[in-house]
Amino acid sequence: MPDLDPRAGLCPSCLHVRPVTSARGSRFLMCARAATDPRFPKYPRLPVIRCPGYERQSQDRETPQA
Ligand code: SF4
Repeated sequence: MPDLDPRAGLCPSCLHVRPVTSARGSRFLMCARAATDPRFPKYPRLPVIRCPGYERQSQDRETPQA
């Protein structure tokens, strides 16, 4: 998710983040882990510096196939 501000911390590179755009065009980061684990807020307060649920996205997802 390279278009998100890196100052947002861990979430933009996390496997469990879901970007959400409001009707007014504001962008939010939603944590998909919140749906199944109450330890995680649905909309994390950024920047998230440390998170027990963080899993780095695979670089393969962002690399175009030749
Ligand atoms: S698991 Fe943690 S790092 Fe990943 S999206 Fe949720 S709050 Fe952000």
